[in-house]
Amino acid sequence: MPDVIDHDIVIIGSGLAGLRAAISAASVTNGKKLNIGVFSKVQVMRSHSVSAEGGTAAVLFDDDGDNKESHVYDTIKGSDFLGDQDVAERLVDNIPFEIYQLDRWGMPWSRRDDGRIDQRKFGGYSYPRATYAQDKVGFYEMQTLYDTSLKYDNIHFYNEWFCTSILHDDNNFQGLTAIEMKNGNFVKIKAPAGIICTGGAGRIFSFSTYAYSSTPDGLDMCLRAGLALKDMEFVQFHPTGILPSGILITEGARGEGGYLINNQNERFMLKYAPEKLELAPRDVVSRSMIQEIQAGRGFEHESGLECLKLDLTHLGDEKIKEKLAGIREIGIKFSGVDIVDEPIEIRPVCHYMMGGIHTDIDGKTEMNGLWAAGEAACNSTHGANRLGANSTSECLVWGRITGEVAAKYALSKKESSSGNISITLNNQQILDEEKRIFDNIFRGRGQVNPYEVRKELTDTMDAKAYVYRDEKSLMEGLKKTRELKESAWKHVDDNSKEYNTNFTNVMEIDAMLRTAEIVLMGAINRKESRGAHARIDFPKRDDVNFLKHTLAYYKQDGPVLDWYPVTFTRYAPVERKY
Ligand SMILES: Cc1cc2nc3c(=O)[nH]c(=O)nc-3n(C[C@H](O)[C@H](O)[C@H](O)COP(=O)(O)OP(=O)(O)OC[C@H]3O[C@@H](n4cnc5c(N)ncnc54)[C@H](O)[C@@H]3O)c2cc1C
Repeated sequence: MPDVIDHDIVIIGSGLAGLRAAISAASVTNGKKLNIGVFSKVQVMRSHSVSAEGGTAAVLFDDDGDNKESHVYDTIKGSDFLGDQDVAERLVDNIPFEIYQLDRWGMPWSRRDDGRIDQRKFGGYSYPRATYAQDKVGFYEMQTLYDTSLKYDNIHFYNEWFCTSILHDDNNFQGLTAIEMKNGNFVKIKAPAGIICTGGAGRIFSFSTYAYSSTPDGLDMCLRAGLALKDMEFVQFHPTGILPSGILITEGARGEGGYLINNQNERFMLKYAPEKLELAPRDVVSRSMIQEIQAGRGFEHESGLECLKLDLTHLGDEKIKEKLAGIREIGIKFSGVDIVDEPIEIRPVCHYMMGGIHTDIDGKTEMNGLWAAGEAACNSTHGANRLGANSTSECLVWGRITGEVAAKYALSKKESSSGNISITLNNQQILDEEKRIFDNIFRGRGQVNPYEVRKELTDTMDAKAYVYRDEKSLMEGLKKTRELKESAWKHVDDNSKEYNTNFTNVMEIDAMLRTAEIVLMGAINRKESRGAHARIDFPKRDDVNFLKHTLAYYKQDGPVLDWYPVTFTRYAPVERKY
């Protein structure tokens, strides 16, 4: 492999967003094929998207009264009015096409008796809208997209390549640096266009539903390239993570009729969301659960953590085996509980990052030639709180959009240079990156164990930036994160070149520390409660002062925060009731 590779478009990430972007870019040819490279630090089918369980939200039929305006409004209300309304409209307009497109590519959607695609109820929606495939929607969507992508001979997969930085000149994207993990080589990749699809960063918390690979590498690459992260203080805690692992029990379980109980055997959601009950949005349900626990009505799990229970026993053996087979298996293997027979212990768990790389409605970042899609991006679909099943939708819609726009951009660059795009990389940038990763990290002299730093960081995030927050806890979290960041932890014990996951782990921890700092600073700065950001010391939403997005840049001396306006089309903010 040469130490410089050329592509027309590079995509980092092979989850739902990355695969959809690759297919979309590969289909825009204009008579000329674009040469597309998809880089992933794990094998394609190990991207976190494979673990999506419950469904993908779309309005497919109007016979029950469902309509697109309702999906738009549910999304905006769910976002606590921080979502950009034009973006929500675009999501809702575009997702039905994606559902049928996947169907044509072979997606085994669960179906109704009459043969039409089935949809189940999900939190915060007015109609059953989660299009599903048993309880493994992500796995089947990924299979379908991966399979489809293999038809294109102009998509090249680089599996187990760890990207480390964005190369750019004068605010124009030029390519990437990466480590080919099988031999440890440091490679430069040149391309006029790039799409970041590196997924969510939920591993900055210990109790988390995410894959171990879900670290903020892509977010941090953007920060280091001078780009902004947006709304990072909004972290979603899903009500039903099992103990002690944090593995997810899909909201589809409640969509199918499961309910939550406290130690008095009460269906406590009756008190907090009399209409929607367990199918209120996740921020509402998670807060209700913590209030129950704080009032002494929780159960004590053997790990010492307090929890509540999800009861599915009344659904019966047949329905559970047909529609919720995956979570039944998870319960048996990881909690020792068969959900057919008994309620399962659960607790709110870090599950989604509403924030991410600041983009416009087309997924374009602040750098020419660079887009971002999927969970890594923040085009502001979800504002302060995402509705379940809207994320896979977002990945599909903006995977397609960014793939197409980036392809057109790359084609226009090709045409204006008569087919020979010449990119002169900035050598200083490459030398600086080599110094950062090889001198400071690989050959670092730190004495502190980086894995202990990671554990302390993620435990700190669990303790200080969970469902409820206040100034004191957030400040303590920030202080601890900064101490960890400043401590002498950078070193790699394993000296081998091949598959050195010790080295890549330490690079991940470096990114986690910077990103966690931004989550905490954003949370301290936002002195209100909105969506998933619930401040005990500022319990009310404050539209006068905080109906705006947070932007965070990383400057020499640390993060700098700014604000950015929310786009409104038709819907004025009102109080959220469920
Ligand atoms: C357990 C679970 C269940 C979920 N269920 C649902 C659901 O039912 N419905 C729904 O709508 N949403 C669901 N979500 C959310 C949704 O699945 C994710 O937001 C979405 O799949 C993210 O896809 P993505 O393409 O953005 O990134 P991911 O699938 O996370 O992929 C990230 C990619 O980036 C690559 N990458 C990262 N860093 C680097 C690097 N340094 N170098 C090279 N490659 C890199 C990785 O290798 C990977 O390929 C769920 C999430 C979880 C965790």
